[in-house]
Amino acid sequence: SLPAVFVITPTHTCTTQKVDLTSLCQTLSLVPKLTWIVVEDSRTKTKLVSHLLSKCMVESVHLSVATSTKYKSSLPWPLYRMFGTVRGVEQRNAGLRWLRENYHPKNSSGVVYFIDDDNKIDVRLFSEIRKTKEVSVFNVGFAGGVYYEGPVCGEDGRVREWHSPSAEWSIWASSRKIPIDMAGFAVNLHLILARPEVLIGRDVRGADSRVGQLETDLLEHFTTRERLECRGSNSEVLVWHTKTADPNLKHEFHYPSDRASVAV
Ligand code: UDP
Ligand code: MN
Repeated sequence: SLPAVFVITPTHTCTTQKVDLTSLCQTLSLVPKLTWIVVEDSRTKTKLVSHLLSKCMVESVHLSVATSTKYKSSLPWPLYRMFGTVRGVEQRNAGLRWLRENYHPKNSSGVVYFIDDDNKIDVRLFSEIRKTKEVSVFNVGFAGGVYYEGPVCGEDGRVREWHSPSAEWSIWASSRKIPIDMAGFAVNLHLILARPEVLIGRDVRGADSRVGQLETDLLEHFTTRERLECRGSNSEVLVWHTKTADPNLKHEFHYPSDRASVAV
């Protein structure tokens, strides 16, 4: 039978959260045997997300965990803009914990996929993801500062090289062994369950992941470049690392605003 797909999405309160989650919900509702694990970056579950998931046709699990101060940048604004922060770590880990608490290695077949709330996905990607035996990798549009980042695959379905700027010139070149976006891989559920100690945010030596390293640090716990399974094709993109622009609300301040209820 069709292996189940578990999609883990961290999400946080922002102006475009509702439209992003609505869009993702409606895309995911086209996909059979899928469970959507939505993890809010907040101390408690918000009304907006609860309501949205109750209207969404996708089978979902709603969790929340607030980002701890450890992951909040203490850098001043210009540096923070330059170097960024690692985001969604504790939320994605809450999703992994939920899977480990609810499934057992012996009788579970499934595939785990992370996607951010503002990304865009072609539903055909899920047919590819379901074939994952250990770890699959594939292209992600607009990731890595280029049109797309991903594996360059041989006829044998193995990675020959990486189509990634960090493979060539970035200061991360040496440490980013598997240079891929969070939306560019899928992991078989049995690996997630068999290695319950593995969480996002630490490298194989136990050090905290740096910005841009979450993906490679996670995957290095589970696999090596030689074992990676190519999905999709070298010349096609089925998921995009997009970012929804903030709407122009410059007149909102002057109006008697009922923004909160519209947002929910
Ligand atoms: N996110 C979060 N808390 C935050 C900022 C972001 O949980 O304070 C989530 C966000 O909703 C998204 C993911 O983490 O699903 C990645 O964040 P974002 O899209 O802002 O990062 P980028 O794609 O620009 O790296
Ligand atoms: Mn994003």
